Amino acid sequence: MSISITNFLASELTNRPFFVLIGEKTDYSHSPLIHNTALKFHSINASYYALNVSENEISSLEYLFAHQNFLGANVTIPYKRLVMSHLATLDEVAERVGAVNVIKKEAEGSLSGYNTDVDGFLRPMKIKHITPPKRAVILGSGGASAAVVEGLRSMGTYKIYMVSRNPENVNHNDAVAVISYSDLNIMHPIDAVINATPVGMGNLIDQSPVSAETLRHLNPDLVYDLIYKPQTTKFLRLADSLDISHIFGGLLMLVYQAAKAFQIWTDKPFPEELVLESLKAKLSE
Ligand code: NAP
Repeated sequence: MSISITNFLASELTNRPFFVLIGEKTDYSHSPLIHNTALKFHSINASYYALNVSENEISSLEYLFAHQNFLGANVTIPYKRLVMSHLATLDEVAERVGAVNVIKKEAEGSLSGYNTDVDGFLRPMKIKHITPPKRAVILGSGGASAAVVEGLRSMGTYKIYMVSRNPENVNHNDAVAVISYSDLNIMHPIDAVINATPVGMGNLIDQSPVSAETLRHLNPDLVYDLIYKPQTTKFLRLADSLDISHIFGGLLMLVYQAAKAFQIWTDKPFPEELVLESLKAKLSE
C-alpha cells in the first residue's frame, strides 16, 4: 500500500535510509516488491516505499529530496517532467526523452536524473537479437511512448508513426509523424507495432488498441505491448492468432528498467531471476 508524502515525511519510516516511488497514484505499483527484494538480497540497510503525491503536496518534494536519509527515487505519472527542475544533472537519455524516471542522490548531496525506461524497452529485443524495425507504429502519445521513440531511434528505426486519438493536440518533434487510428488502415507495410496505451489493462482489460483487421493489414513481424498486467493482453493474443514472429509483453521491460535503476543507485548487480519469480507469483494472485 502507498503512503501520502505528507504522512511519510512525518513518520518514523524516514529514520533509516530510504528509496521512494513518487507518483499521483502509486497504490498498485510493483516497484516496492521489486526493489525491496533486491535490497534484501544484498543486505542493504534501506527500504523502498511507494508515495502518493497529490497536486497540493508537490512543494513537499523539496523536503523529501533534502532529507538526510533520502537515497533515490523512481518517478511516475504525472511527475516525470516536473521533477527535472529539482535536478543538478540529467543523463543524455533523460534529456532526449524529456522525462526522468530515476533520481539518484549523489555522495555530495546533489540530485541526478536518468531515464531507464528506454533501456528496459530495448533489452528484451536485444536479448533475442531482433533485427531493428525500419518502420514502426507506436500506439499512444504519453511518457512511455516518448521512451519507445527514443529506443527505436537508437536502434536505427527511420520511420516512426505515433498514433493518437487526437493527433492535433500532440506535441512532437521532427523524429515522428503523428497520425490518427483511421490512418492505420491506409498504411503498410509496417515492421513493428507497439502498444504504449493503457488499453488492455485495468477496466480496459477486454479491449485491444487496434482490431485484428488493422493488425492483419499492417502485417508487422514484431508486436510489443508495454502492459505487464495481464502478462498476455488481448492485443498480444490477436498477434499470436496472426502468427506474428516476435511478440513481447511488458513484464521484462518492467524488470529491466528497475534493474538499471538499482545499478544506478547501488552500483550492485540486480537479482533479475529472483525478482522475476517474485513478480510472477504476485501477478498471478
Ligand atoms: P499514459 O500517459 O497514461 O497514456 C499513454 C497514452 O495512451 C495517452 O497519452 C493516450 O494517448 C493513450 N490513451 C490513454 N487512454 C486511452 C484509451 N482509453 N484509449 C486509447 N488510448 C488511450 O501512460 P504511459 O505512462 O505513457 O504508459 C502507457 C502504458 O505503458 C501503460 O499501460 C503503462 O502501464 C505501460 N508502461 C509499462 C512499462 C513497463 O515497464 N512495462 C513502463 C511504462 C509504462 P492519446 O490521447 O494521444 O491517444
